[in-house]
Amino acid sequence: MLKVVPILCRPGQMNNYAYLLIDKNTGISAVLDASEAEPVIKECEKQQLKPQFLLNTHHHFDHVEGNAELKALFNAKIIASAKDKDRIEGVDIALNEGDVFKIGDSEAHIIGADGHTIGHILWYFSKDKVLFTGDTLFNLSIGGLFEGTPEQMWNTLQKIKKLPDDVLFYPGHEYTAYGISALRGDVGQKYAQKAKERLKQGKPVAPISLKEEKICNPYLSIENRQDFYQMFE
Ligand code: ZN
Ligand code: FE
Repeated sequence: MLKVVPILCRPGQMNNYAYLLIDKNTGISAVLDASEAEPVIKECEKQQLKPQFLLNTHHHFDHVEGNAELKALFNAKIIASAKDKDRIEGVDIALNEGDVFKIGDSEAHIIGADGHTIGHILWYFSKDKVLFTGDTLFNLSIGGLFEGTPEQMWNTLQKIKKLPDDVLFYPGHEYTAYGISALRGDVGQKYAQKAKERLKQGKPVAPISLKEEKICNPYLSIENRQDFYQMFE
C-alpha cells in the first residue's frame, strides 16, 4: 500500500506539488518532484521519514530544485528519465518507458509522456491505482508544449485515457481554479463543487479520478485528433 502526501511548494507563485510517497508495508519512502527543499524537509520531519529516493517527472527547474539539498541530507538516490540524465543534476538511476521501479513493495510503472518536454515520464503505481502526471496532465488542463508537438501530446494523452477509470491522479501544479468556470453537466458540476470546497479549505484538489478527468478535462474529452491539434493553433 502506498500513502501519498502532497506538499505545496512555491505557494502563491507557481504552486508546484512535491509528493511524499510512503510504502506502508516497509516504511520506505520517496519524494517525487522535489520542487524546493524546505517544505519537503518540514514534511519529512513531521512524518519522521528519511526518503531513500528522489523521483522526477521531467527536468524543469520548478520540479528539481530541491534535489541536491535533499540528496545530501538524506543520502538519497535521484531517479529520472534516461532522456533527462544530462539535464537533471546528480541522476543515479535512469529509467525508460516500461521500466518498473520499486519503493519497498510498491511498484511504479514508467510511462513515456513526450509533449511538455521530450523525456517526460509518468509514474504509475498500477496496484495502488495512483498516477503522478507532472506537467503532462493537470486538473482540467495540460502542460504547455515546450519541447514536443501536438501529435506527441495527443499520443501521450491517449495512453492516459487507456488507464482504468478508478485511477487517482496527482499533477505537478495546483492549476485547477483556472478551469472550474468552464465545467458543465452533472459530472462537471460535481467536479466544480469538490474543487471549490477543497481549495476553500486550502487543500489540494488532487486526487481526482481519471473517470472524472476524462469527462471534464477538455484535452482528454476531445475525441478527434485533428480537433485536438486545432487547440494549439
Ligand atoms: Zn515543466
Ligand atoms: Fe512545472
